Amino acid sequence: MRVCLGAQQLINRVSIHPVSPSAAVRWRAAQTRLFCRTTEEEKPRPSMLRHLTSKIKATGPITVAEYMREVLTNPVTGYYVRNNMLGPEGDFITSPEISQIFGELIGVWIISEWIGAGQPKQLKLVELGPGKGSLASDVLRVFSQLRSVLGEASVSLHLVEVSPTLSRLQAQILTGNCSQEADAEDEPVYRRGETAAGLPVSWYRRLADVPTGFSIFFAHEFFDALPIHKFQRTEKGWREVMVDIDPEKPDQLRFVVAPSPTPASSALIQADERRSHVEVCAEGGVIIQRIAQRIAGDGGAALIADYGHNGTKMDTFRGFKDHQLHDVLSSPGSADLTADVDFSYLRRMAGQGVASLGPIPQRTFLKNMGIDSRMQVLLRNCSDASTRKQLISSYNMLTNPTEMGERFHFFSLLQHSRLAKPKTVQGLNMDKKSPAPLPVAGFTELSFS
Ligand code: SAH
Repeated sequence: MRVCLGAQQLINRVSIHPVSPSAAVRWRAAQTRLFCRTTEEEKPRPSMLRHLTSKIKATGPITVAEYMREVLTNPVTGYYVRNNMLGPEGDFITSPEISQIFGELIGVWIISEWIGAGQPKQLKLVELGPGKGSLASDVLRVFSQLRSVLGEASVSLHLVEVSPTLSRLQAQILTGNCSQEADAEDEPVYRRGETAAGLPVSWYRRLADVPTGFSIFFAHEFFDALPIHKFQRTEKGWREVMVDIDPEKPDQLRFVVAPSPTPASSALIQADERRSHVEVCAEGGVIIQRIAQRIAGDGGAALIADYGHNGTKMDTFRGFKDHQLHDVLSSPGSADLTADVDFSYLRRMAGQGVASLGPIPQRTFLKNMGIDSRMQVLLRNCSDASTRKQLISSYNMLTNPTEMGERFHFFSLLQHSRLAKPKTVQGLNMDKKSPAPLPVAGFTELSFS
């Protein structure tokens, strides 16, 4: 039987179980990507710079993508691999860390799409770049609250995480002590565990290792951390921007423009490109292609939230360290590196096999998902003045256009059938219509009673 519960009914049901309002606030006066330093980070890290300079001396200037990949995810000294950079003790804060309402609404979105897909018996939740595990944990809380809606569906959680440090934190939050690392280093599933409710959780380094089947993919601030290539329009045509050693200061790096085309500059620039400077995240393109193929073949959906643009911005590569914008080439490995996500590129790489929605601003998505009614429930249950203030401040942080409300965007991939117009069957005496598809939550304005 097809249960036609819409997103607003799901949110109403979640609202019956209000969390303690103080628990809904994780972090008080938050700024994105601008936070305190870890003690580990205070130590000088010459090894990353040494590693990069010897690489450049051996093979010549490296692409920005190679630079970014080494700095962020080098298995020994990479920024993500060594640090816990999120939250009050780290370098920056993200929406799931600001308030659990964010993850709860994403949990409702996932269940709503599972219903929209006809409630398949197996549901794989696949998160890319889970950070501290807060988003997955908030999603799973909604799953527990809506257990009766999920019926007999068998749900499992699959986390794609390159950082062993963060995977341990995720395991702690999601499974307590119920997880185990794989014996061999090259196992595709490098950690397995189980939540308190008995839901299986598995960790992978790459999306390609996640088993197939109906899956809902979600990624928050993941695509912006993937390596980008940078290109500059010159009189001689497009040239790739590379990273080289500064000849006057051998312990410093600098940008140079490649004198002739590189494989990336020949392959990654669109013939009708009008900008003078372009950033292309080829790795993100490959990942979105894989997600799209899986959605088209096995069913499911993807929800991607990040800061980004629709193919209009040029130079967005930046570093963050010590509450400040940080020179991307200085003290590599000690700061976060990031670039805005080009959603038009993701859409193009996803291809014609799937439908896409967005990007729409975070503020619009969260309001469509019912953040205002959720807030009202929390505020109604909260008499403590300081907690009320914190709730309002975190709501403001997530939705205000000058904070994260318009800088962050939501983008979704769906099966074409999910959005198909109802078919009309011509009968003898009457026209019979198949039911209209449920609206896609978050991307459609819903009315809340
Ligand atoms: N989604 C979280 C964390 C964002 S930080 C949040 O919003 O709070 C980026 C996350 O992606 C980290 O968990 C980092 O370790 C992971 N990551 C970065 N590059 C990755 C890669 N190439 N493969 C898998 N995970 C990666």
